[in-house]
Amino acid sequence: MGGFGSGRKFGADCTEYCCSIDIRRWQREGYLEPGCYVNWQWSRNGETIAAISAKVETGRLHLIYKYRRHGDDWENLNYPVRLQTTACRYGGLRYWFTCPAADCGRRVAVLYLGGKIFACRHCYRLAYKSQRETPDDRAARKAGKIRDKLNWQRGILNLPGLKPKGMHWKTYHRLTKKHDDYANQSLIGIAAKLGMEL
Ligand SMILES: [Zn+2]
Repeated sequence: MGGFGSGRKFGADCTEYCCSIDIRRWQREGYLEPGCYVNWQWSRNGETIAAISAKVETGRLHLIYKYRRHGDDWENLNYPVRLQTTACRYGGLRYWFTCPAADCGRRVAVLYLGGKIFACRHCYRLAYKSQRETPDDRAARKAGKIRDKLNWQRGILNLPGLKPKGMHWKTYHRLTKKHDDYANQSLIGIAAKLGMEL
């Protein structure tokens, strides 16, 4: 107990087994008072599978746990996570974690352990959205990204725009071809959903 990685896989595909901490729950439990020492554990089928501690200070807390990758030695981790607060509409404060991953710093309610450190779902690409989206949603999103690159009006049902100034024709043709492919995929998917055939 008290560590991560013992025979369990916490890798990039950890979505199922990923341990997460939800600051709303900690706040509800009254754990966020400076000086608090939190012991938090996860269990499956009544068995504790992992545990961490957290030491709460003013404006931040320290996450303390052991971690190891398959077969490696245990590593003791202890690092700070900044806390942020926002005012609630009906009074009081709402707490947030600041994602501790390098170059992130997003304000989030939930941190996931998808590797060695806790980080937000953006960092671990646990975006619920992209898991739930259908292939045609995904194609539409990709087409949308290309439209952004081309400075075209958003939405695949809008007309294509012009070549942006300064963009090479080669790039432009490559992007428009990709865009059209994604847009078609998306439209076929939408049509299928609506019971049409293209
Ligand atoms: Zn992050």
